[in-house]
Amino acid sequence: MTQFKDRVAVVTGASQGIGKAMALDLSKNGAAVAVIDVQKDKAEELVRKITDNTGKASLYAVDVSQTDQVDRTVEDIIKEFGKVDFLINNAGITRDSLMMRMREKDWDLVLAVNLKGVFNFSKAVIRSMARNRFGRIVNISSVVGLMGNAGQSNYSASKAGVLGLTKSLAREVASRNITVNAIAPGYIQTPMTEALPESVKEKFIEIIPMKRFGKPEEIANAVRFLLSDEASYITGEVINVNGGMLM
Ligand code: NAP
Repeated sequence: MTQFKDRVAVVTGASQGIGKAMALDLSKNGAAVAVIDVQKDKAEELVRKITDNTGKASLYAVDVSQTDQVDRTVEDIIKEFGKVDFLINNAGITRDSLMMRMREKDWDLVLAVNLKGVFNFSKAVIRSMARNRFGRIVNISSVVGLMGNAGQSNYSASKAGVLGLTKSLAREVASRNITVNAIAPGYIQTPMTEALPESVKEKFIEIIPMKRFGKPEEIANAVRFLLSDEASYITGEVINVNGGMLM
């Protein structure tokens, strides 16, 4: 499949879960992929898998919350691949606890990775996208950024912040043919959610009309649509992919 032939994609938090599914999907569809993650070894495996399949991919070990690292990385990606067409801001973490018990450092860390990370990568690619008069940015938010969740005030705030950032940036760059959209996944089966206790998983299932958790590939499908030419007039939008959990 070649719908993204000659396109260069940057995927953050790409070595596992939703990020990995998106990186594999983009590569399957012809894009070259810059694989971004904090841990080198896991990401190396993914890059090997893509290149073994005759795809093009390079690994960049970066912490998305560190502005200098991100700026340097985007410069390196543009040197290696010539441009950035697609940016998928996917890296995210949780540090859950009730607000009364939440440590300040867990608030700061979640906001730094989940929200500042999106600012860092978006800011770093936007000039080059504007010059090329083409760009697609997709930010991975969350259903809890829209509905809140007890025990996740830091995470929900970061994901709601991502939605505000998405809409503001979409307005700033629309005239340069750059679209900025968000996906709000519901409960998706990944290492992030595998760690939850069975009792919590059962409670989630109860409130999901489709009575199952989503697969990472089901997020990758929605992202592929937003990156495609079919979505060229969609910007500042949030697509819910949640089995009906929030309508
Ligand atoms: P995951 O399995 O935990 O994968 C996230 C990846 O991001 C990991 O490889 C992680 O590396 C990496 N990462 C963490 N901090 C980073 C940093 N500072 N810089 C660069 N990479 C970093 O998570 P997932 O479930 O696939 O989630 C992907 C995105 O979807 C996240 O933004 C998440 O909030 C969002 N989301 C997930 C769900 C869900 O149900 N799974 C629902 C809604 C939204 P380490 O493993 O080394 O930390």
